[in-house]
Amino acid sequence: MSAKRIGVLALQGDFKEHAKMLREIGAEPVEVRRAEHLTDLHGLIIPGGESTAIGKLLVSYQLLEPLKQLISSGRPVWGTCAGLILLAKDIGGLQQPLLGALDVTVRRNAFGRQLDSFETDIPMPEVADQPLHAVFIRAPLVESVGAGVQVLGTLDDGTIVAVRQGNLLGTSFHPELTGDSRFHLYFLDMVESGSAAPSAAHG
Ligand code: GLN
Repeated sequence: MSAKRIGVLALQGDFKEHAKMLREIGAEPVEVRRAEHLTDLHGLIIPGGESTAIGKLLVSYQLLEPLKQLISSGRPVWGTCAGLILLAKDIGGLQQPLLGALDVTVRRNAFGRQLDSFETDIPMPEVADQPLHAVFIRAPLVESVGAGVQVLGTLDDGTIVAVRQGNLLGTSFHPELTGDSRFHLYFLDMVESGSAAPSAAHG
């Protein structure tokens, strides 16, 4: 089977790390900066960074609508940290451009000063047999989820930090920074197990 072409939104943030991880697991990363880069993708990752900056760039690069269409087409889309914020339907009334697809309420910069950045191991049986190491950097948390949303991971206190809703995946943390590819393999599995694929002409 030929390598899956997975877009990485490359406007701002840590897209290079995602691209590296995708290469390591045998997928073909495609840096996305313009709508035409979305052609023939099997899936897309929206990286961590600064969600307000990425949102503004999505507007000025005229990428908001094309990305919404990609999501509607059923192709798997994964947002990490700022990417999770951009995917969310509700960020508590803050005014910034969003894709508004994932039925969750997200709170930005939710862990406060003392816990600005931290690391911990989180059991996520749906994703991997053994707990995954998770790196949080000024991370958002998921305050509530809609009926169709599956919780994949929580902190010890029950705080939701990983969710899936059909073709959409969201994590508060940064699997691309750990050197552990299991979360990327989980996403690649979503891509391979057949959510809508690009047109047959392009395989
Ligand atoms: N604090 C950032 C935001 O609100 C997200 C941080 C990150 O992606 N590491 O957009």
